[in-house]
Amino acid sequence: MKKVIIRKTEEIENWSKNINSEINFIPTMGNLHNGHIKLISTAKNDNSNVNLVSIFINPLQFDNKLDLENYPKTIDNDIKISFSNGADAIFIPSNEDIYPPNNKNIQFLKAPIELSSALCGLNRIGHFDGVCTVIYRLLDLIKPKNLYLGEKDWQQLLILKNLVQRKKLNVAIKSIPTQRDFDGIPLSSRNVNLSKNERKLIRFFSSELLEAKKIFQQEKKINLNEIIKKLSTKKISIEYLEHLHPYTLKNARIEDNISLLAGAIRCGETRLIDHVFLMKRRPIIAIDGPAGSGKSTVTKLIAKKLKLLYLDTGAMYRALSWLILKENIDYKKEKKLQNILKDISIVFKSNANSHQDVYVNNYCVTEEIRSQKISSIVSKISSIKEVRKFLVEEQRKIGESGGLVAEGRDIGTTVFPHAELKIFLTASIDERAKRRKSDTNSKDSRKIDLDTLKELIKKRDFEDSNREISPLIKANDAIEIITDGCSIKEVVDKIIEFYNDKIPKETEIN
Ligand code: C5P
Repeated sequence: MKKVIIRKTEEIENWSKNINSEINFIPTMGNLHNGHIKLISTAKNDNSNVNLVSIFINPLQFDNKLDLENYPKTIDNDIKISFSNGADAIFIPSNEDIYPPNNKNIQFLKAPIELSSALCGLNRIGHFDGVCTVIYRLLDLIKPKNLYLGEKDWQQLLILKNLVQRKKLNVAIKSIPTQRDFDGIPLSSRNVNLSKNERKLIRFFSSELLEAKKIFQQEKKINLNEIIKKLSTKKISIEYLEHLHPYTLKNARIEDNISLLAGAIRCGETRLIDHVFLMKRRPIIAIDGPAGSGKSTVTKLIAKKLKLLYLDTGAMYRALSWLILKENIDYKKEKKLQNILKDISIVFKSNANSHQDVYVNNYCVTEEIRSQKISSIVSKISSIKEVRKFLVEEQRKIGESGGLVAEGRDIGTTVFPHAELKIFLTASIDERAKRRKSDTNSKDSRKIDLDTLKELIKKRDFEDSNREISPLIKANDAIEIITDGCSIKEVVDKIIEFYNDKIPKETEIN
């Protein structure tokens, strides 16, 4: 494909209409560094779309004239860097192209107050309004499928995600982690303006944040005053240093698993920002839903794709039911049940086919727990208070350090109520019965006729949804996905998209 440089708005609109491909869009203000290169190469490696880089220093987002004048301009080099790292086209508009005088169609937008009145918004009046205005304008001209942004400007990323939602724009935002220089400071076009001494100061600031992250991993708490005290020994002028909820930018709460430690400092004329995400544990995805909704298939694939641990909590209830049946235990007698719970060991192990086998007291029960006999008693056993208490505790132990995707009936409501992403997967009874009938893991289901299977599933649904303790219900903050007519891939891709949208890429880096 011939590489092109486009300068006029009419040309970019025509180009976008006629390109015959989806577009990945990487907006920049030039003076490209490795952070931009990472954005361009990520876009290139993500898919086979056409990659468009824009270079435009947006005057609306500068609250300081001097800052605008001093903003580094290196256009020839930027063109070379863009093309050699995967850009297919570069858009370099002028001010008059983006903001033609007297054009009433240009919308000057306001960033949402909740997000723009914190952190950088406090001192950079109008900055985020300018960001929203220019990105909205560029998206309108280009109509890309994907918009690539860096997590370095986390507040900006949140505000732009909000813009896309608010304006119902048909574009997916993809983010990349903050890229750091050899000495740990975040790459920024403004770094070229730093003197040697200023660079030393920002290095100290960044290393303090990274240190706080390490301490937090062990101690699960943070002492802002201590950090401020350390920074003041170096006479670093702090504009703000805050510990916040990463999505609302309100104060971090005790129960937040991921929080944001963000700061801005001034070095001479230059203002620099940096942040780290503090995590108590790795993320958790909770997937709940009724029998046959596709939970197992989807959850396993998500675990594989996102390199998370897979936890099938239904298999644990089934495993316990298996032992109760085998030992012919009268589970309604409390003492007998207590004895079995005291001694049972339920363990998951990967087998040679990279699937999970379930062991009860060292005996492999993977196939047996899928029998109709087990399916018909498991809901009764799972409604017993002591059983739930025991298994929920076991499940929480497995998920203690996070990094897992768990499926069941009460994961989002009871087992992991603070899971970062909660999905409620469901489908019509007809669809679920059909799926069960063709389920290769359940030999019994294949032998049962469809109508009987439907009745059996309905019965289990009723028991699971109407029991007293943690019944099957959609958690308030869960996203419901109705899977009728969806392929497995579509459901998996959708959930991964939600996950990527919610979890900063940076949290995947230690
Ligand atoms: O998902 P699966 O069909 O294997 O689950 C078997 C049964 O285990 C469910 O019908 C339900 O009674 C019980 N269960 C539960 N809570 C969970 C997972 C499963 O009560 N978290």
